[in-house]
Amino acid sequence: MTTTRFAPSPTGFLHIGNLRTALFNWVIARKSGGTFILRLDDTDPTRSTVEFADQIKRDLEWLGLTWDRVETQSSRLDRYNATADELRASGRLYECFETPVELDLKRKKQLNMRKPPVYDRSALALSDAEKDALRADRSGHWRFKLNRERIEWNDGILGDLSIDAASVSDPVLIRGDGQFLYTLASVCDDVDYGITDVVRGSDHVTNTATQIQIIEALGGVVPAFAHHSLLTGPQGEGLSKRLGTLALKDLREQGVEPMALLSHLARLGSSDPIELRQDMADLIEGFDLSRFGSAPTKFDVADLGPLSAKLLHSMDISRVQADLQALEIPDALATPFWEMARENIETRADLSALWALCRDGVVPVIDAEDVDFVAKALSLLPASPRSNTTWKEWTTAVKEATGRKGKGLFMPLRKALTGMEHGPDMSKLLPLLQNIGGR
Ligand code: GLU
Repeated sequence: MTTTRFAPSPTGFLHIGNLRTALFNWVIARKSGGTFILRLDDTDPTRSTVEFADQIKRDLEWLGLTWDRVETQSSRLDRYNATADELRASGRLYECFETPVELDLKRKKQLNMRKPPVYDRSALALSDAEKDALRADRSGHWRFKLNRERIEWNDGILGDLSIDAASVSDPVLIRGDGQFLYTLASVCDDVDYGITDVVRGSDHVTNTATQIQIIEALGGVVPAFAHHSLLTGPQGEGLSKRLGTLALKDLREQGVEPMALLSHLARLGSSDPIELRQDMADLIEGFDLSRFGSAPTKFDVADLGPLSAKLLHSMDISRVQADLQALEIPDALATPFWEMARENIETRADLSALWALCRDGVVPVIDAEDVDFVAKALSLLPASPRSNTTWKEWTTAVKEATGRKGKGLFMPLRKALTGMEHGPDMSKLLPLLQNIGGR
């Protein structure tokens, strides 16, 4: 049974990079009928907030990335304590006392001697008396003792990977102030929840190596790991600077359609072309993790607007019912309104202006040379109810009566009825206009 998790820290808003991770893990779980867990990595009490956690849930709900359960790390401190005891008992967790300044100095010395800046494990040589003396002065932090051997795994995206544990510092699992760090909490949760597949950003590759050893030290089953490439801006620049503008909640406010966003991310960086998916079943069906590559993936937020518009242009009315109701469009007009409107909107927010046009009409725009023509035309306008053939019948009659044709016939009528030179198909619009010069 596949179990995946999405594990954001509620210390900020979800952005487009997080979404890639969430989506991949969600799809993998749903594709196999497995379980998708939302795990809130909130062990840092100074930075995690309930507000961010709530916003994460709202963002995921908006996108339809529904979870089977939520877990919070802050409620599992006892469990992490027990795990730390287990690792201490097996000699894999050791106490260190270096201050950040001392560690920094060590690193600089190593680099000067052209050695990799790997923690030298000098704390292992401390006697009990020395440790007691240090403890009187400061509180110790705890490191996991890596086995200095090659750590290998077959990565679902990057292929066969191996990292020499001797090139990595023993990871700190517990800080001097007692706070459990991500590595311990994450591994403990992955083991306890039976996580089978972990997809995350390639910035976690080294973490994966150390986490594999910790999982093994705890007697857990190592999940299948896959690391997706990081997203960059359109010119290959790091996204982090721009993330402020790429928060999911902002994209939502800008009118980006969830399925457009998901369709884009389900293919971006893979060897398959981007295809618009109308629903989740379709999206899941077309997703294949093995098609993704290791190269950094360019993301351009400007792609989302046209994709959203394209999605709306062919969207079924069932997906916009709430929007139509919010505008108080009478039931009888909902379907013809949507069929007229959908091909003329970029975002759902544009519906409101179109409905105002139908309900209230506009101040007509009539050029001086068209005043008589428009007056004559309006006198020939069939009374409501009008249908999709009314525009054709009307303009044919106007043509006969005035001798005008082509643009000279249609454009003044469009401008008089809509106030614009471009816009909806007049055959579809005319039957919806509730107020034409008071008629
Ligand atoms: N909270 C971690 C992060 O957001 C989770 C990483 C992971 O998936 O293990 O980077």
